Formats: sequence, structure tokens, C-alpha cells
Amino acid sequence: MTPASVTELGVRLRRGETTPAALAAAARRDLEAVAGLNAVLRFTDSLAERQAERAARMLAQRPEEAGPLCGVPFAYKDVLCVEGVETTAGSRILQGFVPPYTGTALQRLLDAGAVPVAVTNCDEFAMGSSNENSAHGPVGNPWDPGRVPGGSSGGSAAVVAAGAVPFSLGTDTGGSIRQPASLCGVTGFKPTYGRVSRYGLIAFASSLDQIGPLSRSVEDAALVYDAVAGHDPRDSTSSPAPVEPAGPTLRAGIAGMRLGIPREYMAEGLEPGVRAAVEAAFGELERLGASLAEISLPSTEAALSTYYIIAPAECSANLSRMDGVRFGLHVDRPSLTDTYLQTRGQGFGAEVKRRVMLGTHALSSGYYDAYYRKAQKVRTLIAQEFDRAFETVDAIVSPTSPSVAFPRGSRSDPLSMYLCDVLTLPVNLAGLPGISVPCGPSVTPGGAASGDGLPVGLQVIGPRGGDAMVLRVAHAYQAATRWHELSPPLPGTR
Ligand code: GLN
Repeated sequence: MTPASVTELGVRLRRGETTPAALAAAARRDLEAVAGLNAVLRFTDSLAERQAERAARMLAQRPEEAGPLCGVPFAYKDVLCVEGVETTAGSRILQGFVPPYTGTALQRLLDAGAVPVAVTNCDEFAMGSSNENSAHGPVGNPWDPGRVPGGSSGGSAAVVAAGAVPFSLGTDTGGSIRQPASLCGVTGFKPTYGRVSRYGLIAFASSLDQIGPLSRSVEDAALVYDAVAGHDPRDSTSSPAPVEPAGPTLRAGIAGMRLGIPREYMAEGLEPGVRAAVEAAFGELERLGASLAEISLPSTEAALSTYYIIAPAECSANLSRMDGVRFGLHVDRPSLTDTYLQTRGQGFGAEVKRRVMLGTHALSSGYYDAYYRKAQKVRTLIAQEFDRAFETVDAIVSPTSPSVAFPRGSRSDPLSMYLCDVLTLPVNLAGLPGISVPCGPSVTPGGAASGDGLPVGLQVIGPRGGDAMVLRVAHAYQAATRWHELSPPLPGTR
């Protein structure tokens, strides 16, 4: 059975067949039933109770004003601040940190009447592609708990894949919404940079971070996007442009649309089962009336090294505020320097330390021009290449991840982990909107491979501000296929 969508829950609520409190309780039960996945860090019971009451009032008193998310339960990633709820960014260093304010995206969901039920596990400070970098332990993939759910929003993807909540919020700096969505067989949307306010998001790399939804369908992702997108004076990089809502054009179809397939994204390194599923999806898009053509984005090969200069550089600056004095963990030492050293030494995990050191090096005098400034120039080239591509195509389609979910512990070499995001991080470097939708299980042509049967994701990328169009293309695909309705068997957990 397919878990209920946001729209279906809305219908049941309005018919009086259920209540926001009953839905929140059911979501909590379903999350507890899959506790073995370690996807949930904490439940937000008292907030859920208050919100459910508020939603019930909204539905009873002003049903015509209550939006589609009113009364619908959701979970959010442990990097989003909510007043009074512990937020740790998956790190030991923020243990016990309780934000005194609520971030904008969360506040907009609360104002829409949505009911937060749980905080989800993630890689420490959103650095990772497998959720193995969390101080709270790894997350299991609902399709195979011995495999990773992807990262860094792995918990957010797992709870949606497990059918416990209809949607969750994640964040995407280099692929952290789309890649776990792909590996868990759910829909994950990263809006245009600046479209969703970052106020109240614990920063990893501020020029790349974006908040977005993970859900069972594009329809639901669009409902969440429409609720959270929009200008916010409290985020200086928030776009003042009016939001083009996704809802009105979602069902307009893709007949006559021109879609580009970057040659460089279909290169070697793609697992054969991923290639086969994505090529079948291309065929489906063509049947739906789009014309597909190969394009070239030659700077793709430089994107990974560019990202791994810029993201660590920004993270080294952002994380300097984690000093043991103001937030979370405090290792008391007689000297202030020692307090800093011990708190950061004990509070940060290995990957975060690696990034802080890489970033500090790239920004240090004598190396700044060779690394950081050069990376910024290449970033501009990458963005310009996308701009040129969008002169001839409306959207770009590709695989989301070169591989399906891999066994936990199988990528201990950081470089092999970094390669997970080769197809997603160029999108962040250029600030574009991108979505991943399930396009079928991996089936290796001519022979079984160990990842066969696991979900594969199709990525759709649009020009800056083309969020509604990206959702429209992805929805057209989902309206014609059933892959997004597949649910994991959840052996031993359900
Ligand atoms: N996996 C990438 C990284 O480790 C992207 C993470 C993200 O998007 N937050 O940096």
C-alpha cells in the first residue's frame, strides 16, 4: 500500500475522518516501528501537540484559509533551528544546544499548520554522502538496512521512504537532498539558491546551502516548496524576486520541451544498472513529447575539486563560531586557547576536522589565490556553461547519483565518498534548482549485480529561477510512471 500523500491526508482531515493529533500520533508510531534505522534523533512531542491543536483550530474555524499542509505531520533535519527544540547538526559539539528562535522555513511550515513530529539524523554539519559521519551513529536505508541511505539528509530520506511521514525537510549543499532521495527511492527537491531562506539553518557552506523538501511525490514537494519559498529580509542572500508558484503549472506537461543530456554526466563510472534505468526514463520523457538531445558541459570534470575548495573554505569560517563558549559542548580548561582546542578536538568528528583544515589552508595567505580565488573563477565558468546550455534546452536530465545505495563502511576513502556527488554538486555551484525522482530499480543488463533492485534517481536541472518548470518536468514523468509508489519491504523493522 502506498502511504498517503499530503493531498490525501488533507481530504481526510477536511472530511473529519481524522485529526491533526491522530495523524501526528500515527506518524510517531510508524517512526518508532522503524527505530532500528536510527533515522530519528528526537521526537518533538510538545511542539507537535501544540501545533496539532493549532491546526485543528485552523481547520475548524477557517477551513477555506487553511492550506494543503494544515494538520499534516512532517520531520526535519537536525540542522534547522526551532525554538526550544535541541538542534545538534549531527555533532557532539552542539550537544544540548537549544535554539532561542525558529528559522524561516520551519516558521512558514508552522504558520501553514504543518505538524513537526521528529528531528532527523544527518551527517555532522551536513558533511557527507552516507550519513556515516553523524555523531549519533549511522542511518540504515529502508530498502536494505545494511546499506547507507545517502547523505547528508539521510534520516530525512529514510523516514519518508519508510512511509512514516509524507514529507521532511532537508538541506542540499552539494547534493544532500537529491542524493539520499535517489538512494532511498523518494523525491527530493533543491530549489534555486536564494529561493528558500537560510535564516535558522546552521550553516555549512553559505553560498551553496539550500533548504528543500523530501517527499513521496513531486506533487507533495511542490506543495511544500510553495509554502516555504519566498523573500526573507533576515537572509541577505534571499532572492527578492517574486516566487512563481509551482502549483499552477505542475500539470502542464512537457510536450515540445527541449531536454539536454550532458555527455559528461553519462560518462564511465556510472553503474550499469543506473545507466539502464536512467536511459529508460529518457525514453519515457520522449514518449511524453519532449525532445532530448546530447549537450556538453566540459567543466564538469573541474566541479568536484572546485566544490572541495569552496565548501571547506566556507565551512572553516562558519564553524569557527563553535568555540565551546557560546553553544553546546564546553570542555573546561584553565586557558581559553586550551578550552577552544579541547572543545573542538573532542566535539568535531574526523570529516569535519578534515574540512576545517582543508578550508583554512585554502584561505591562508599565500595559498588564497592559488586555491580559493581560482576555485571561484572556475565556479563562474561552470555557471556560465549552464547558462549557455539553457539557451538551447529548457531543462537538463541526468542520473542523480552514479551508484545505488552502497553497503555501510564500503567507502572509507574520503575521495571515493566525495565522488558520490559529481552529478549533483555542479548544480549547487551554479545556484540552480534540481530534483531527483525515482526512476525504477537498478537492473544490471546481462547479469545480476549486488545493488540490483535498489532505487535509482533521475535528476532534472533547470535554469536559475526555473523551480516551477523543474517540478513540472518531474511531475510529468511521475504522472506517467509508478516508480515513486514503490515501498521498501523493511525486513525486520515493520
Ligand atoms: N556530500 C557533499 C559533502 O559532503 C554534499 C553535502 C551536502 O550537500 N550537504 O559536502
